[in-house]
Amino acid sequence: MTRPSSSHLVDPQGRRIVYLRLSLTDRCNFSCSYCSPGLAASQGDALDRPAVARLVRIFARMGIRRVRLTGGEPTLRRDLVDVVSDIHATPGIEEVALTTNGHRLEELALPLRRAGLLRLNVSLDTFDEGRLAQIAGRGADVERIRSGIAAAAKAGFPSLKVNTVVLRGVNDGELGDLARFAWSHGAIARYIELMPFGGGDPVSVAEMARLLGEQGVRLEPDETRGWGPARHMRGVSFEGGAEVRGLLGFIGAITENFCGDCNRVRVSAAGALRACLGGRDEVSLAPLLGTGTDEEVEDAIRLGLSRKADRHRMEEDSFDSMVHIGG
Ligand code: SAM
Ligand code: SF4
Repeated sequence: MTRPSSSHLVDPQGRRIVYLRLSLTDRCNFSCSYCSPGLAASQGDALDRPAVARLVRIFARMGIRRVRLTGGEPTLRRDLVDVVSDIHATPGIEEVALTTNGHRLEELALPLRRAGLLRLNVSLDTFDEGRLAQIAGRGADVERIRSGIAAAAKAGFPSLKVNTVVLRGVNDGELGDLARFAWSHGAIARYIELMPFGGGDPVSVAEMARLLGEQGVRLEPDETRGWGPARHMRGVSFEGGAEVRGLLGFIGAITENFCGDCNRVRVSAAGALRACLGGRDEVSLAPLLGTGTDEEVEDAIRLGLSRKADRHRMEEDSFDSMVHIGG
């Protein structure tokens, strides 16, 4: 007989966990300096489509309501549209989201939307091809990412965001242009403080706001809250003599620690539960998804969660590579 599972996941600090970030692969067609320094070799995709579907079903019974697929580059999974469709059909799951580098988006945006994907974040750090090559390697192509974002706008995602990791002396002069570009596609422009997974010189959220002002974006307060830690501002700017407006999100993982409100856990591409991005504790779930019972998987999830620290220690530590964990 199946043990009835509690529909609540609560960590040792009493934070309710409703959000799963699931890495589908640690493979990537880019090699961003801040994410996969040294091109760490892929360890392979531990969870196939049935294992992902089973894991999400178990998490949903335990109270997870939102799933974001990430990686590595999740669009390298040939079965991505089917994986989204399975998760969308899982009882209890209210929203499925995806984070991508945008390279395969032109062909995938519509099939993903039709499969039930609701929220889409696309990473774009610069409009300059040379700078993109410097950040992400030779495979990255600005025009493909732009076309992918245009296709996503056309496909009608209720939530579309353009993610930028801000690097001092690299793309910190493009924040205003990135905002105006995102708004022209109905997207939110999001600026992310660099976390210590690789190289690069960080820019704080406070400084990003100042730079946006210098680059023609006036900021006004806004109360919008999403699933995650981003805080928002409304922006006003001018393009071709006309006033343009839109939302901006800021993720200040280092200078504006948001761990008190944390509502998430991660599963890495190797199929291990990571309760905190900025921690090292892991509990392997992949073998149990092959041969274990649902109860054994649940027990492993609770064990992983029982070790979730009160806050990350990213300002004191550095980590190997985000590409293996899932950002
Ligand atoms: N490949 C996809 C992409 O690039 O969007 C999904 C995976 S990537 C790890 C998820 C997000 O993490 C991206 O927006 C990326 O820019 C961000 N990211 C990676 N390394 C980071 C770091 N060191 N600090 C802050 N954000 C980082
Ligand atoms: Fe790949 Fe995304 Fe990491 Fe860049 S940030 S190396 S695109 S996983």
